[in-house]
Amino acid sequence: MPKKRTRQSEAKRLARARIKLLWKQASEIAKTDPEGARQRLQVASRVAQRVRIKVPQGIKRKMCRRCGSVLIPGESCRVRMRSNRSKHLTVTCKACGNITRYYVK
Ligand SMILES: [Zn+2]
Repeated sequence: MPKKRTRQSEAKRLARARIKLLWKQASEIAKTDPEGARQRLQVASRVAQRVRIKVPQGIKRKMCRRCGSVLIPGESCRVRMRSNRSKHLTVTCKACGNITRYYVK
């Protein structure tokens, strides 16, 4: 039993390291090879799912939920402050048109 537990946490640790690495590569090649970056992020989210960990929030906010593109304001996404209903930030992915809203208090 304890053996299994350590193996599990080891897998999670490795997965986190791998996600970090994939994110680093993806953000570096995002401008020159958007498709390659997208593939790396899709692999990263699959790795996270497999060991049931969350993709770090810092990364999650910079990737498109629908297509997995790296979101760079002014490059691959559009960021707008909107205040109809309540104040929020909209991030539109230029690759697939997916809109993510972040509410600001
Ligand atoms: Zn997208």
